[in-house]
Amino acid sequence: MRPPFDDTPDARPLTPGEAPRWEAALALVERDLRATLPEHGGLRLLAMPSGQDDFPELVYVALADGSWWGNGFEPDPSVSALDALAVVAEAAQDTVSERLWRAWPVCAAHGLGMHVGGTDERVEWWCSGGSDGSDGSGTGHVRSGVGELADVQPLPARRGSGRYGHRASR
Ligand SMILES: [Zn+2]
Repeated sequence: MRPPFDDTPDARPLTPGEAPRWEAALALVERDLRATLPEHGGLRLLAMPSGQDDFPELVYVALADGSWWGNGFEPDPSVSALDALAVVAEAAQDTVSERLWRAWPVCAAHGLGMHVGGTDERVEWWCSGGSDGSDGSGTGHVRSGVGELADVQPLPARRGSGRYGHRASR
């Protein structure tokens, strides 16, 4: 067993209230993780020294055990809520998919890993499946807004009802 911060001894968790916009974004992405991989819930923001002058620390989205992946982002306090959500969603996707070795999040309708997209008003999970092929354009569809996967994607196993799967009855 290794201690969680073995690889990154200078990592520190952000203290609550330190980066409100980024924390709010993480809370939304956490909803999506709990809706799809509830056993891996508990995303957190870790700050690590960057060696840069402008932002002496970069922030990473880490799993509950402190492991993370990808490039950190600059925790600009004046970021818009939408931009923060897009950045955090992508960072969480990097961490979850690389550390857990699985596509995340997956569109339940098509079984495909989704990516972050959106408009000026909303950040969304996009799936590339579902083309009707009629005009060769317009492939893919919006699965849900980031933070709203629970509304379209029920939990994999409903609490209290998944215990009797394939038990032989004789
Ligand atoms: Zn889909």
